[in-house]
Amino acid sequence: MRVNEKIAIVGAGLSGAVIGRELAEAGHEIEIFDARDHIAGNCHTERDEETGVMLHVYGPHIFHTDNAEVWDYVNRFQTFMPYKNRVKTTSNGQVYSLPINLHTINQFYSRNFRPDEARTFIEEQADKTIAEPKTFEEQALRFVGKDLYEAFFKGYTEKQWGCSPTDLPASILKRLPVRFNYDDNYFFHKYQGMPENGYTDMIGRILDHPNIAVNLGTHFQRTEATGFRHVFYSGPLDGYFDYEFGRLGYRTLDFERFTYEGDYQGCAVMNYGEVSVPYTRITEHKHFSPWEDHAGSVCYREFSRACGPEDIPYYPIRLVKEKEQLADYVARAVQETAVTFVGRLGTYRYLDMDVTIREALDTARLYLSKKDAGASMPAFLHSPM
Ligand SMILES: Cc1cc2nc3c(=O)[nH]c(=O)nc-3n(C[C@H](O)[C@H](O)[C@H](O)COP(=O)(O)OP(=O)(O)OC[C@H]3O[C@@H](n4cnc5c(N)ncnc54)[C@H](O)[C@@H]3O)c2cc1C
Repeated sequence: MRVNEKIAIVGAGLSGAVIGRELAEAGHEIEIFDARDHIAGNCHTERDEETGVMLHVYGPHIFHTDNAEVWDYVNRFQTFMPYKNRVKTTSNGQVYSLPINLHTINQFYSRNFRPDEARTFIEEQADKTIAEPKTFEEQALRFVGKDLYEAFFKGYTEKQWGCSPTDLPASILKRLPVRFNYDDNYFFHKYQGMPENGYTDMIGRILDHPNIAVNLGTHFQRTEATGFRHVFYSGPLDGYFDYEFGRLGYRTLDFERFTYEGDYQGCAVMNYGEVSVPYTRITEHKHFSPWEDHAGSVCYREFSRACGPEDIPYYPIRLVKEKEQLADYVARAVQETAVTFVGRLGTYRYLDMDVTIREALDTARLYLSKKDAGASMPAFLHSPM
């Protein structure tokens, strides 16, 4: 077969769109394939017909980054409205502010500590018998002690990951998850915001280039790769190889939608830490667009469970078993010619949107420089291991 001069991109999510745009601007003909009937991958947003609310169809997405180039990039395609993520949690019939901050501590212990007093108090709660925490539970107990751990971490983590925090590595809770001031902004990043017309509109503008053709409802298979000069694949790594070494483990999410006339919970995200409540959180989507005004409201109850073959993979599990399988897939992938695996599914990593864009820009630039030098492109820009 004569190799097409076109470049194939599998997936019209952020990874595929950004790589496609960069290469299209450099003069390449781009053919994008997505199995879904819409662009934007898991960042997809759409207006609810009944209420007019902008829905985050695959779960809430808040844009946050420290990377000025990435921030400039997204602002090229969309006006970003100011948005700070302020998460609440319901525990034992009370509503608290997250991440755990001075307000949470004072409310939880019915105190009025100043910052230094709170720090000393929390240090006293910490379990100092744990010298080298190995599990998530030990790490949390060492940082914040039993009371805060049980109220804010234990149940939520069990529901989110479907296993005991004693079976998860300490590395998940890398640093002290407590602030000794009243800052309740969930993220630390310098640039934060929400796209005025949603992520799908933004990604549609990224894809809007005469050298880009988008084929929706089209599942791309490995056998088709040989027809293209190069393939950038943002689908699941195990799926590319027909699950030869078994399926990589993921958690999936179920969203139970309900509507409400007025304001259901007064905030965008309300977590539920107790195991007796089957869902992990309720998101009220109109609060993700606080500059808009809607009488009606759409909420999602979010349930987490193991991902089956027909489900959408959301969070990679990446424990010992999955890492072993992943090593087999990586060894297989590096033997492919003219295919680069990108994005959250192609590299089996959790990637925030800003990291996804950063990696996509770097991938496209590497491709252009390799092409100029007559060199070949690696299968991965960053090792998935
Ligand atoms: C619940 C949840 C909440 C999140 N919240 C945030 C947040 O608040 N802030 C943040 O920065 N990030 C967030 N993220 C991360 C964000 O979703 C990712 O950064 C982003 O989706 C990655 O884009 P991608 O293009 O790599 O993958 P995707 O968006 O998954 O796109 C991949 C596309 O490839 C298509 N595809 C797969 N296989 C094939 C095939 N064989 N043929 C054709 N098409 C195929 C799929 O249909 C999909 O459209 C969140 C992620 C999750 C799971």
